[in-house]
Amino acid sequence: MVDKEEHSFEGAKESTEYMISEDAKYVEYDDAEQRTVRMGTAWHHHCLSPECFMNDTGKEIILLETPQGNIYCRSTKELREELEGRAYLQAQGDFGPADHEALEMVKQFVQDGTPWHFHATPPKCILTKSNRFQLILENDAKREKKEWSFDAKPVALVRAIDDYFLGRVK
Ligand SMILES: [Zn+2]
Ligand SMILES: [Zn+2]
Repeated sequence: MVDKEEHSFEGAKESTEYMISEDAKYVEYDDAEQRTVRMGTAWHHHCLSPECFMNDTGKEIILLETPQGNIYCRSTKELREELEGRAYLQAQGDFGPADHEALEMVKQFVQDGTPWHFHATPPKCILTKSNRFQLILENDAKREKKEWSFDAKPVALVRAIDDYFLGRVK
């Protein structure tokens, strides 16, 4: 039961496979926050910058994929930090190695001052439509992206990349 509602930001670009502005429902910040509280662990989220290949809204947004449908809202620092904190706590199991080609690319981006961002997606994620875990690395300067597949969630690798992304490591 995905209820659709017409809503799109002005200036939306139109070149991604998955059109967030059409295929996800826009909600207000409080609604997004409340829904994740009610749903426990049955959701995952993506923070999407305007530069992101997969974001057609032209704005910085947070996309939430939930059993009750996909929603998005304007991104705020508070909500980002809260969702990231909860997602971090949800990660379980064999964390796998952190060493990976993707991490080497990230280190190079940081060293060169290249703007970049990444996505870690679970199976069936609407951004990838893959049955596996995917890691997507985007070079925002060149508008290039590279993608890798994993059988299990590459937790250690994602955390290592996140450390660079959030500037905890330089
Ligand atoms: Zn992206
Ligand atoms: Zn997803």
